[in-house]
Amino acid sequence: MTPASVAELSRALGSSAVLTAEEDLREYRDPYSYAGWDDATPAAVAMPGSVDEVRAVVRWANEHRVPLWTVSQGRNLAYGGPAPRVRGSVLVSLRRMDRVLDVNEELAYALVEPGVRFFDLYEHVRGRGLWASLPVLGWGSVVGNALEHGWGYTPNGDHASNACGMEVVLATGEVLRTGMGALPGSRSWQAHKRGFGPSSDGLFMQSNFGIVTKMGVWLMPQPERYVACLVTTPRQEDLETLVDVLRPLLLDRTIPNHPLLGPAIGAPGWSLRFALYGRASVVDAQQEIVSTAFSVIPGAELATRAYAGDAVAEDARDADPFHRFQAGIPGMEALEVVKMRAGEHGGLLDFSPVGALSGREAAQLCDLVRSLVERHGFDYTPGVIVTPRSLLHITPLVFDTTDEEQVRRAFDAYEALVPELARAGYGLYRAHLRFMDLVADTYDWGDHAQRRFNQRLKDALDPNGILSPGKQGIWPRSMR
Ligand code: ADP
Repeated sequence: MTPASVAELSRALGSSAVLTAEEDLREYRDPYSYAGWDDATPAAVAMPGSVDEVRAVVRWANEHRVPLWTVSQGRNLAYGGPAPRVRGSVLVSLRRMDRVLDVNEELAYALVEPGVRFFDLYEHVRGRGLWASLPVLGWGSVVGNALEHGWGYTPNGDHASNACGMEVVLATGEVLRTGMGALPGSRSWQAHKRGFGPSSDGLFMQSNFGIVTKMGVWLMPQPERYVACLVTTPRQEDLETLVDVLRPLLLDRTIPNHPLLGPAIGAPGWSLRFALYGRASVVDAQQEIVSTAFSVIPGAELATRAYAGDAVAEDARDADPFHRFQAGIPGMEALEVVKMRAGEHGGLLDFSPVGALSGREAAQLCDLVRSLVERHGFDYTPGVIVTPRSLLHITPLVFDTTDEEQVRRAFDAYEALVPELARAGYGLYRAHLRFMDLVADTYDWGDHAQRRFNQRLKDALDPNGILSPGKQGIWPRSMR
């Protein structure tokens, strides 16, 4: 990238939309790596304000053969933050594209631009009888989180599955609308997924095949009653039974959201958080069923707190923050937890293998991760997201980012754990930037059939290899 090419980009976007000063760029490194490591600092940050400006950046990158790295809010903490994989990349930050373009109260959906944060969407839907699902940190983008296969805690918490319809700028500068949006004047772009096949939405998630500039997101109707539930069990060996009691309640949708499971705080057993939502009489019946089900575990306790759906913001103000997250009310408390554990400059890596949801499988996976993590000198404090058939074993490796030795130990542990877990049959659902090649290497069934498929698509869609090279271990031909 030459000064002349930067000047050209500044002319296209306006000079305030292209950052090159060192102190500005420092903000776009991974905040959870050691401060002295600068291998993933971008060369410049471009902040397009419209779809046409995104296209202009893409055309510019093709012309000058500059790698781009797209983020929406760039808050992908514990997985690398906003940092690019390739030194010298121009970071495309979509923070300025922050409009909520539509909220449909009848059909419970919104159409958002990539810069829309969970805080923003909440402000748009509150008081309108709709709840949006969100992860524990409200400052991230709705689009970035869904594209990374992120999770939240309402019944729409599988964010990738609750995205409906995208608009995507391709590496050529062409604009594509997916699903029903491919039909001009479509009346159901955010109401119906897939359209006329093949369905391409999944190709733009955890990939580097396009820049998503609009996305539909499904919301839930505000329930009459919402009950936050917490089951605690006394012993570590309770895990198997706990999971086997939980699974049927998820499969038959008595429990409609994605529970969060973890070691109980200050006790050897487990804690399980989930929630019930709906009409009061139905929720009461569900609560009865749940209470009976968990009572088979000796010593297990179920604590519940019921809220009127239209009064959670008020009534849960002083409650456990998780009561608010399960009701789609955003917060930032989770950042404080990291600081409490590892100091003002605390950071973490999330190591996140996926298992199947049987009691025995869950116990095996948890025992394996516990022993590996402890062998590497870290505390075992997972937050396990549970779906009706699987669990995402999100394991934070916590460290002080000002202590290079500690940070290195965490990165080394992650690197050692990936192949060990893969050998046992467990793959990661999402990877930190530094380990995308390593993780992609483990998905090597059929002599790397998946990699060859992805590379073929990459070469066809992005012949100059400008879009997020190395993302997900997918490299363009020129960099392989
Ligand atoms: P967050 O919502 O947490 O702020 P990011 O903006 O950091 O998430 O996005 C997480 C990852 O998702 C990015 O590293 C990038 O690979 C991908 N991504 C985010 N936004 C887009 C987008 N609009 N188009 C394509 N990929 C994106």
